[in-house]
Amino acid sequence: MTRSGQEYLESLRDGRSVWLDGEQVKDVTEHPAFRNTARSVARLYDMARDPGWRDVLTVTPEGQQRPVLRAYHVPRTQAELIERRKAFKTWSEASFGFLGRSPDYMAAGIAGFVSSPDIFAGADFDGRDNLAAYHRRMSEGDLYPAFTITNPQIDRTRAGSEQEQDDLFVRVVKERDDGIIVRGAKMIGTGAVFGDEIIVGTIEPLPRQDIEYALTFSVPLSTPGLKFISRTSYEAQARSVFDNPLSSRFDENDALLVCDDVFVPWERVLTYRDTDTTFGMWWLTPAYNNFVHQAATRFWTKLEFLAGLAILIARSNNTYQLPPVQMQLGRIMGWLSIAKSMVLAAEAEYERVPGENGAVHLNRAIASAHRAMAGDIYPKVLAELKLLAGGGLIQLPASGFDLTHPELGPLVAKYVRSTGTPAEQRIKLMKLAWDALGSEFASRHEQYERFYHGAPHVYLPGIVRDGDPDHLAAFTQSCLDGYGLDTHENFPVPGAGGEHHGGS
Ligand SMILES: Cc1cc2nc3c(=O)[nH]c(=O)nc-3n(C[C@H](O)[C@H](O)[C@H](O)COP(=O)(O)OP(=O)(O)OC[C@H]3O[C@@H](n4cnc5c(N)ncnc54)[C@H](O)[C@@H]3O)c2cc1C
Repeated sequence: MTRSGQEYLESLRDGRSVWLDGEQVKDVTEHPAFRNTARSVARLYDMARDPGWRDVLTVTPEGQQRPVLRAYHVPRTQAELIERRKAFKTWSEASFGFLGRSPDYMAAGIAGFVSSPDIFAGADFDGRDNLAAYHRRMSEGDLYPAFTITNPQIDRTRAGSEQEQDDLFVRVVKERDDGIIVRGAKMIGTGAVFGDEIIVGTIEPLPRQDIEYALTFSVPLSTPGLKFISRTSYEAQARSVFDNPLSSRFDENDALLVCDDVFVPWERVLTYRDTDTTFGMWWLTPAYNNFVHQAATRFWTKLEFLAGLAILIARSNNTYQLPPVQMQLGRIMGWLSIAKSMVLAAEAEYERVPGENGAVHLNRAIASAHRAMAGDIYPKVLAELKLLAGGGLIQLPASGFDLTHPELGPLVAKYVRSTGTPAEQRIKLMKLAWDALGSEFASRHEQYERFYHGAPHVYLPGIVRDGDPDHLAAFTQSCLDGYGLDTHENFPVPGAGGEHHGGS
């Protein structure tokens, strides 16, 4: 069996250096800023052992005795691709789509790396053996891989080596017989403080002179010299599960990673002093495409949740039958169908990964387009829901405790209700809605859906690259080629007589 939630929680008590509000967090499993989310992740691990979900969430690879999380498995048929999506769907439903970087996200990326291992064979450093060991270690240990592969935003117009100071981005500063010393920072470590290992690399193309920055490695969170500086914790701000049902349980946190002269043994290095392999490992393997498989499935789940929220709100406000409200619901449910269809279509039109491995992945053009679609429609879904909900999202008692107050309770029960929805039920619903739509947690989610997969100036040109522009241009050209310049013979000049024949 795969490891239990309890075993996962125990693994987090490893002395990792997590910082919040100027204080070092001794134990993320007990700290009020992290403990509920750690338990939400632990539950995912328990689900993978539960007979009700075990066959969906895990698979026993050929020649092995023990199952592994399905996300670590390399799909070789369309059916296996679909099985993997079912696993993504099951886990994403456990957080209603609000845990973006559950362990399956990067696990699928690692399965992508091993689908095209030759990409890791650099001119001076061959990372293939380390990669195979990395995949084994992570999959056989059921480990949670986090990752930081974006440089801090110091100056986006300059390469790492051109920044105003050294060591702003992670780079190698010393080479030893047994490994390397790295220094610098990376963002944004979503879920990082809940991970077992962190993979540090760069997803952007690197100029040749940035050779010291061109490396990728994966180390345990407790590695000396690693510091995780957390953003504000929405879980810590939550008053209770009733008042903040999402942020109190699914705040995966985002942390800045600082490497303060961290020693990385050679066996944990995947690419080294090589701009081609460091960039290519994300884009020339199916890693990124596999990320999209998890993310698009989770996005579909999140829209199912938001569509359900819209329906419950409309019913609670007794506006459900009104034609304009039906139009709003139709819009939201239409977007949901687009999200779902893109996953199914990308699986149906799957592609073979080049090479000997026999792996398959999603259709690249559709996967690529999903990145733009999701970031575009998520803010629209939120806006539509806020319009639908109106002031009920705001006119709520500060906490559920008012309902039990001897003086306020009867007033709240009388006025904060709607036809057919008693106060406690309505307050519960609207507080859930506010957490999803209007809270700081909700706002972070909007930014997440827009940026977790890169900025528009990166992913929109990617759609052109993956979308077969030559075929599209040729198709339209065939229309142009179907006719020529009109002459007096085939085009009637007013007043000159003759017939109109149109094109050839
Ligand atoms: C909530 C959240 C979670 C994330 N989680 C992770 C994670 O777990 N791991 C990880 O590695 N990364 C993570 N990311 C980072 C994510 O990958 C980056 O946000 C993304 O790659 C874009 O980089 P950036 O934010 O630095 O934006 P930038 O690249 O700085 O772009 C911001 C804006 O600046 C403008 N701009 C900048 N450069 C150019 C240019 N060359 N041409 C035109 N316009 C330009 C554009 O308007 C662009 O939208 C996360 C991001 C968010 C918001």
